[in-house]
Amino acid sequence: MNNRKIYLDNSATTPLSSVAKEQMYAAMEIYGNPSSLHSEGQEAEKLISTAREQVLTGLGLRPRQKDGILVFTSCGTEASSLALFGTAYAKSRRDATRILTTDSEHPSVARVLDKLEADGFEVIRISTKGGILNTDQLDAALDKKILLASFMLVNNETGAIYSVGDAFKRIKQKYPDAVTHCDAVQGFMKIPFSPATLSADLITVSGHKLHAPKGVGALYISASIIKAKRTVPFLLGGGQEDGWRSGTENVVGISAFGASVADIHSRRAEISAYMQKLRAYTEEKLASLDVRINKPQGAYLANIINITLPSIKSETMLHALSADGIFVSSGSACSSHSHGASPSLLAFGLSEKDADCSLRISLSEYNTMEHMDALADSLQRNLCKLVRTK
Ligand code: PLP
Repeated sequence: MNNRKIYLDNSATTPLSSVAKEQMYAAMEIYGNPSSLHSEGQEAEKLISTAREQVLTGLGLRPRQKDGILVFTSCGTEASSLALFGTAYAKSRRDATRILTTDSEHPSVARVLDKLEADGFEVIRISTKGGILNTDQLDAALDKKILLASFMLVNNETGAIYSVGDAFKRIKQKYPDAVTHCDAVQGFMKIPFSPATLSADLITVSGHKLHAPKGVGALYISASIIKAKRTVPFLLGGGQEDGWRSGTENVVGISAFGASVADIHSRRAEISAYMQKLRAYTEEKLASLDVRINKPQGAYLANIINITLPSIKSETMLHALSADGIFVSSGSACSSHSHGASPSLLAFGLSEKDADCSLRISLSEYNTMEHMDALADSLQRNLCKLVRTK
């Protein structure tokens, strides 16, 4: 039995960093409810406000500058639900019924917009073929009826970086009242952006993609959206998180999320340079194998590499690699909960057959060149074996 573990599924989730773990241990000692007025409660509240400043700094904001707030949630999915349902049901502009999005959003956005469509909103899905957001389609969809635009920053399966800043600027120039939401879960702390550079009113981020624990995310909400009441809270109760997300906060998770962001922030250039080097090395290794890299035509994140295998189902290869102690994800289904070809890969331009034979290799700073050597060896061995047994 092979005991090695080479984790190459970092877009699904990441291992905890030692910084996050240490912060969690420290935060676990502080058991007060952050809403309590006594000193134990206030200690917990202090942990949350430190984390809030750390995440806002990661978003390129100066925390004391009141141009928006950060609301902690249970995950990126909940943050996007707050952004989308919260904007749709704010009913701030009764005449605005159109929602723009892309054809390759993560299910946490796509399924919410399907529901809003069923409820009567008009949803227009802009093509992202080849990893490029189609600006002609975007321009054609611009109309005073636009309530909301929700575009992801980095596609979780192909790594394509969409030109969200440019798209939101086009929308805002013509229709400044339109609300803009960006799902930045895969891009946060990996590529530089801020609410201003994206022209985004709402931004979703998540902790567990950044070596923090699972169960914590956040939504940035701009001051102008709050003032105009263009988005409203839907989790009502005790009024935590400035009334935006009732429910006692996950102090340990939030505190570790802040610490992780601060840690990455302090080493950002170094991590980014390393990821570029690791990507180049991986591509070189893959070039000698019978696989095709589905490289976006425009900008892309170094961390995500999508490949298509020659007529071998991705799940078959995934299990063969897993038996070798190498963990990747299958492109044919975006998770173990969904079946069929991935809508993201079809939107990218892959045929159903190719989408069914695609794997996602996603890297973190904990991966090494030796991991990539092992991946290439195992892929090569299994390609020979599986092609022969087909
Ligand atoms: N958005 C994108 C692009 C993602 O890749 C993910 C998770 O894979 C999410 C949102 C959901 O984040 P969470 O797992 O924190 O709910």
